[in-house]
Amino acid sequence: MVAYKSKVVERIELPSRDRRERALAEAGYNVFDLAAEDVFVDLLTDSGTGAMSDAQWAAVMRGDESYAGSRSFAELESAVRDVMGFERVVPTHQGRGAENVLYGALLEAGDVAINNTHFDTTRAHVANQGAEPVDCPAEGAHDRQSDEPFKGNLSLERARSVVDDVGAERVPLVISTITNNSTAGQPVSVENTRRVREFADEIDARFVIDACRFAENAGFVRRREDEFAEAEIAEIAREQLSYADAIVMSGKKDGLANAGGFVATDDEGLFERCKQRAILFEGFPTYGGMSGRDVAAMAVGLREAVEEAYVTDRLDSVGAFAGLLEDAGVPIYTPPGGHAVYLDAGAALPHLSDDEFPGQALVCELYREGGVRGVELGSFAFPDTDRPELVRLAVPRRTYHAEHFEHVAETAASVLENRAAIDGLEIVSEPETPELRHFTADLEPVSP
Ligand SMILES: *Cc1c(COP(=O)(O)O)cnc(C)c1O
Repeated sequence: MVAYKSKVVERIELPSRDRRERALAEAGYNVFDLAAEDVFVDLLTDSGTGAMSDAQWAAVMRGDESYAGSRSFAELESAVRDVMGFERVVPTHQGRGAENVLYGALLEAGDVAINNTHFDTTRAHVANQGAEPVDCPAEGAHDRQSDEPFKGNLSLERARSVVDDVGAERVPLVISTITNNSTAGQPVSVENTRRVREFADEIDARFVIDACRFAENAGFVRRREDEFAEAEIAEIAREQLSYADAIVMSGKKDGLANAGGFVATDDEGLFERCKQRAILFEGFPTYGGMSGRDVAAMAVGLREAVEEAYVTDRLDSVGAFAGLLEDAGVPIYTPPGGHAVYLDAGAALPHLSDDEFPGQALVCELYREGGVRGVELGSFAFPDTDRPELVRLAVPRRTYHAEHFEHVAETAASVLENRAAIDGLEIVSEPETPELRHFTADLEPVSP
């Protein structure tokens, strides 16, 4: 059931085909270089792109811009305590700021961090401390067809074998990312979270939850984990987070805000260390690089994120979008995750080999055909890894309507009708850091 109506609107426009062709060529076949004005339905990311509620905008007006002791910070503390169950909060400008603050306090050079799957910025921040990020995704996490309910889980078997290899003293940190962004937004069960807690205790490590999409995860838990079939979203969220020593959060995801993030913990010593790092990198610990109004909006957003109607609307609309694509014959990763639908570009464009970047070719065609912007997460974004060729269509929160999703499904279907004529792409210039090449590299079509 639709849970929102519009109160403010923003005009969007499908540019002419001619304009789209030119924009794509000028962007070097890299949609990160498109002007947002040239995009009709923008599914590049769900990060900070959602619509805020009237209550959040009201909170913006009441934001307290005091440097120290801001009332807006007190509202954030109270929201984090009520919704997530932690007493101590260190605000940061966004999620990666929280990662820098927390992982810098927990890791040293030579350490190993275990995660179900490190998200890009997490991997970069672990590496930036001189530590080694090791992924332990569940068996079958990359199976695009299986209907396993919790493909986002952390594999304890793999985690134990990492510890057997490197020794427990080198692993001071275990992270669980809920939902598992880099594994198609798949959920993590509460049962898995409990077992990860026990595992962290066994090896005397800290357990951190990357809680960016904790509310979506709670929605999946209720739908798929028998123990919680009757529980409220808010209860599930608190229960799952209660197993962690600390959490990192991006307010741009389930904070339902356009900016912000934080670390939260009950551990006094860790809190003090995070506060000192926050002063160095983010700002005084009652604003952390955010304006007071952004803190206020995030505090309200956190409470809205665990409302029953919000979570139901969110999972239903992403699920319905996936259904439209499937009905149109577009191969997708199933079951769909919480924040995005992932297209299986390898299956969609089987005539292209991995080094012709089928995912990026599909991204370009979706834009050319219908002004739709998605993002490649395959061999273009992750060189030299053995990942499936996926294209992510991320769904901004409370922003697009059924008609937009229909347009995207129709666009994808007509792209596939003419698939045989789609050329692969080759890179013509790229930055020095290969891990970040998909943001700035230029490409051009390979003429067969
Ligand atoms: C987005 C994200 C981050 C980083 O948050 P930003 O606000 O983009 O800096 C960290 N972890 C996960 C799982 C994310 O999705």
